Amino acid sequence: ISAEAFEEQSKAVAVLERVNKVKSEFVAIVSHEFRTPLTGIQGFSEMMRDEDLTVPELKEYATDINKDARRLNRLVNVMLDLSRMESGRIALSLEPIDLNAIVRDIAATMQPTASKHTFTLRLDDTLSLLQADRDKLTQVVTNLAGNAVKYSPDGGEIVLMTRAEGNHAHLMVIDNGLGMPKDMLEYVFEPYSRAENGKARFVNGTGLGLPIARQIVKLHGGRVWADSVEGKGSTFHCLIPVGASSRAA
Ligand code: ADP
Repeated sequence: ISAEAFEEQSKAVAVLERVNKVKSEFVAIVSHEFRTPLTGIQGFSEMMRDEDLTVPELKEYATDINKDARRLNRLVNVMLDLSRMESGRIALSLEPIDLNAIVRDIAATMQPTASKHTFTLRLDDTLSLLQADRDKLTQVVTNLAGNAVKYSPDGGEIVLMTRAEGNHAHLMVIDNGLGMPKDMLEYVFEPYSRAENGKARFVNGTGLGLPIARQIVKLHGGRVWADSVEGKGSTFHCLIPVGASSRAA
């Protein structure tokens, strides 16, 4: 067998191994993420069934059950969203969007719950309006900014930056957190894949935030990628075309 054929074969084996790994991780993560709320629902409902509880106690347990059920619902929705987007069964609802305004809103919303972190905005005022889906774009920025917080557990500065680049908007989310090894930079965009380097293994997650962000940006005709230095921090980039309406304007 020729060197070339051998190399092709090794590549195919590597791809299969990776697919298999992602699949086992999927089963592990999904069963873990589902099990926690299910255990709660089971336990609280058993107590309500078997014990003589006061009305305030009953209400408290019902509230816990409701919280767990909502968490399951959210998880199922995220999984469905991703599968719909991947199979192209989702339509964008396009309108002129001010990306800077979205970034500002998200920083203002997240800042109060991220007391160890400081959000710094570096927004390009010359940025055109984007022809984009407001909810979906909000989800992209939320996922990336949320990760910047989650994966810098010791706190620090998070820079949200926009820049007009030709007929594209370039969004950067920069943190000084855990970072990740170079060979993980593409892998983490695969569904259910998590880097889990260093302290990242103690951070909760499903491995769906980045694949969803990538799918959304792809649906807008753009692309998403990451730079990182392990132990120093990461930068997530989104390059989004400004789109038809602004070009026409
Ligand atoms: P989740 O955070 O739920 O695991 P994501 O798809 O959002 O899922 O991220 C996938 C993986 O990428 C994470 O598990 C983490 O290992 C890595 N990652 C994402 N964002 C960052 C970041 N800002 N810094 C370091 N690692 C990150």
